[in-house]
Amino acid sequence: MKGIILIMDGLGDRPLKELANQTPLQKANTPNMDKMAERGINGIMDSISPGIRPGSDTAHISILGYNPYEVYTGRGPFEASGVGLDIVPGDVAFRCNFSTVDDDFIVTDRRAGRIRDNTAELIESLNKMVIPGYEDVEIIFKESTGHRAVLVLRGENLSDEITDADPKVVGKAPKTVVPTNDTPHAKRTADLLNKLVKHSHNFLKDHPINLNRIKNNEPPANIIIPRGVGLVPEVESLNEKYNINSACIAETGLIMGIGRFAGMEIIEVEGATGGIDTNLDNIASTIVDSVNNTDYDFFLINIDGADEAGHDGMVKEKLEFIEKVDEVVISKLLELENVVIILTADHSTPISIMDHSGDPVPIVINGEGVRVDDVTRFNEIDSAKGGLSRIKGSDLMNILMDLMNNSSKFGA
Ligand code: ZN
Ligand code: ZN
Repeated sequence: MKGIILIMDGLGDRPLKELANQTPLQKANTPNMDKMAERGINGIMDSISPGIRPGSDTAHISILGYNPYEVYTGRGPFEASGVGLDIVPGDVAFRCNFSTVDDDFIVTDRRAGRIRDNTAELIESLNKMVIPGYEDVEIIFKESTGHRAVLVLRGENLSDEITDADPKVVGKAPKTVVPTNDTPHAKRTADLLNKLVKHSHNFLKDHPINLNRIKNNEPPANIIIPRGVGLVPEVESLNEKYNINSACIAETGLIMGIGRFAGMEIIEVEGATGGIDTNLDNIASTIVDSVNNTDYDFFLINIDGADEAGHDGMVKEKLEFIEKVDEVVISKLLELENVVIILTADHSTPISIMDHSGDPVPIVINGEGVRVDDVTRFNEIDSAKGGLSRIKGSDLMNILMDLMNNSSKFGA
């Protein structure tokens, strides 16, 4: 028996006046999701806890059975893992922006004109950086998409108890990083980071890529500004934790980062954009192919578009995207055999607030042995009447492993 958790990112919503007090999922025409409701056991889920507004990262961490309050030290480690850096416990990781500063070290563009190309070459220069007095610390940069990059500090006696360098607005200098406690490790890391930000300017300001940008009237990417610090924690891999062989099919670096962090194999999908324009056909065929033709027995799948539409406050787009996923992806899931399939979301992203909310999300489980209930429609309201009642995200892997007959008994 194999298992799938399919997360439709940000799927949940609140009733909308313009939809006659229905949610987009309620209003959408979703015959395949409804078939899953009919064949399965239904409920609602708080990915972290009732009323807690989760990030996609902390929600996924919780759904995979890890305690986000222990494991989630900051965004940095997951971004670093998301761009494919092999991070190890004890590393201190940051997300960074390439930004533009003027001659007085004042930030004039936080995203360096949304630079798209050649950041790999800038990173190559930055990776030669050694900070005097900190020769024992390995400094590892890697480019991400657009103006984004990640930074990993590897060495002894480092800490994540420090503030951000990002001034968040233009017209100010990068913030001086300060320790948030008075341990020598925090002081040392803060000092190192302040020197690193200054050094990055020296490394980048006369870089040929930037001289060329200046010539073309584009803001040079002449400084690196780190934020989102986190200490890479020690975690048990998902495979060991649940005695499975797991893979993650995701669209965004953030979710791939969570997957890698949990020791999962990453299966990339061609044409996956993480938006409503994503290639759902390829996502569907990748799922079917991976389930039927690989040895992995557990798949975490994330489809991101509904979250994007929610953040943008686009009702019609969210509704239509849900219908498209139903038609292209869920229809294919219904044909799979010997699989326990869970369809749910990581959190709600209500159109009305254009951000994540703490409202629980609908969940349905299909597979041999599930106690089928009377619910026949998959949405925030109907699912709540199902046999699963209201569960926490941290229970989900246990429930799945039990249905896959893959868990061991607690007690005699
Ligand atoms: Zn999310
Ligand atoms: Zn979101």
